[in-house]
Amino acid sequence: MRVGIGYDIHRLSPGRPLVLGGVAIASPAGLVGHSDGDALLHAACDALLGAAALGDIGEHFPDSDPAYDDIDSARLLTAALEKTRAAGFAPVNLDANILAEQPRLSPHKAAIRERVAQLLGLPVSRVSIKARTHEGLDAVGQGQAIAAQVVVLLEEAQP
Ligand code: MG
Repeated sequence: MRVGIGYDIHRLSPGRPLVLGGVAIASPAGLVGHSDGDALLHAACDALLGAAALGDIGEHFPDSDPAYDDIDSARLLTAALEKTRAAGFAPVNLDANILAEQPRLSPHKAAIRERVAQLLGLPVSRVSIKARTHEGLDAVGQGQAIAAQVVVLLEEAQP
């Protein structure tokens, strides 16, 4: 068994589409990034890569590479999963925190959970998505950014 941790934060900007966990969410502001800014999937990539000791998302998908301009982060997670599997590991479960003051994410947690499970090839029962605010504190709490924390457990894949 191998455990990995991932963290990411992106700035919110008015008029940008908001995508979290591969799910489009209606919002007056979305996340700014070289890709679609999906902080949850970026943190999931880092958790997978971290558990397999394969480095980090910036090494594998550098934002200086135009191939990743505005890329759907689901493609990054799929690629990170392929690298993890190639190293001999398979995901067991994922647990995530999304830190956002707005929009309220409780109506979207089920869809995000299903999408993340689908991307990882896991049953929904092995994926947990939690959401919380920052109580008005700091950049997240003041609605300027959304952050995500992800923990993933890997097991050595059967040959
Ligand atoms: Mg990111």
